[in-house]
Amino acid sequence: MNVYDGQRIAAMLEKHGFEQTDALSDADIIILNTCAVREKATNKVFSALGRIRRAKKPDALFGIVGCVAREAGATAFQRIPDLNFVLGPQSYHKLPEILKNPDTKLLNIDLTGLEKFDELPQMEKSPAVAYIPIQEGCNHCCTYCIVPYTRGRELSRPFKDILRDTELAANTGAIEICFLGQNVNGYKYTDEATGKTYRLSDLIKETAKLNNIKRIRFTSSYPTEMTDDLIDMFRTEPKLLPFLNMPIQSGSQNVLTRMNRPYTLNLYIDIVDKLKAARPDIQISSDFIVGFPGETDSDFEQTMEIAKKIKYINSYSFKYSPRPHTAAALMKDQIPESIKSERLAKLDSYLNELQRSFNESCIGKTMECLCEGPDKTGKHLVYRTPYMQQCIVNATSKTCEKQLANIRITAANKASLRGEVQD
Ligand code: SAH
Repeated sequence: MNVYDGQRIAAMLEKHGFEQTDALSDADIIILNTCAVREKATNKVFSALGRIRRAKKPDALFGIVGCVAREAGATAFQRIPDLNFVLGPQSYHKLPEILKNPDTKLLNIDLTGLEKFDELPQMEKSPAVAYIPIQEGCNHCCTYCIVPYTRGRELSRPFKDILRDTELAANTGAIEICFLGQNVNGYKYTDEATGKTYRLSDLIKETAKLNNIKRIRFTSSYPTEMTDDLIDMFRTEPKLLPFLNMPIQSGSQNVLTRMNRPYTLNLYIDIVDKLKAARPDIQISSDFIVGFPGETDSDFEQTMEIAKKIKYINSYSFKYSPRPHTAAALMKDQIPESIKSERLAKLDSYLNELQRSFNESCIGKTMECLCEGPDKTGKHLVYRTPYMQQCIVNATSKTCEKQLANIRITAANKASLRGEVQD
């Protein structure tokens, strides 16, 4: 979602005559796009703002957008008095106002719902992977999560608006569509004129009809919203990639209950089984939180066990961090930092092992991969496999032109694959 927001902000400013620069000291406007999900990232924002302040041109405008902006609100101006703007994740389309009135302080952290989607200028050229937001916010209220506060309650965008965006992306360079939402598979939109209700499966079906679009994916999913119509898409729609991020967060039933993730482990496992029945080559990844308040050694061992059972690839794991406005921050039995670190190291090392072994199992296979462009050295091209693994290929004139190519995997480690283009 943050990549999408960043692209839209860049496109909006380009319409006002700006161009992107890597050099802070050259910039006329500096926008820090922020995430408030974990404490560590939030803490970094204000030290980064301090650094920006010292390095920027004296008259350059600077400010924060996104979830930390919403969380901090007017206090951000108290902490950094020369900050020019503070805009929440649903009001960054107001950014041009600061260009008109550079001497004011621009503050808008309202939850304006879907207004920004109507007000942002259309993208003129799509990147190969087009991120298309389909819903905003979340109704699940997991007890650790700040998202319902920063992004608000769930709202689904009109079906027709999304299809207009996917078509535009397809006609201007997109090869892959990635549907986005904090609770993407909870997408539900009822057309008032016809009374028909549309779900994510309907969006996938319609998007798959676009010839230029070769790959479709979506993130991030809530386990119990994997309804049968959506699971069936993995059986019937070959353009839907065989990879799904479906966070379980913990393998302990007790911890899940306290997290307010009211699914049973058996139900989660059933969903994985159904997905595998629909698409035998599907791989699942997860997010995990370790050290949630009250998590015992045995709870943690159950998380290790579920990771072993599902054999996740490409997962993310985090130490629990208490967030403002959340119920878990007030729970007793907060876990000491040292235990969180120990558990995270153990889980990470196992998840890395799983990832390495999946990567190694790909050696010798040929996969259709999407080119993201050259690496930093310019000697290689970086491709994404259908499982979102990074695959490095030696650049030749032949490879450069192809955005989608069949790549034979020749080597693998934990982080990435090496491959060569097949004719
Ligand atoms: N469904 C949302 C969740 C985003 S947060 C979305 O994709 O937009 C991404 C991950 O951060 C969560 O799946 C969870 O594993 C982790 N996370 C969220 N709140 C956290 C907290 N308070 N401490 C540690 N990790 C957290």
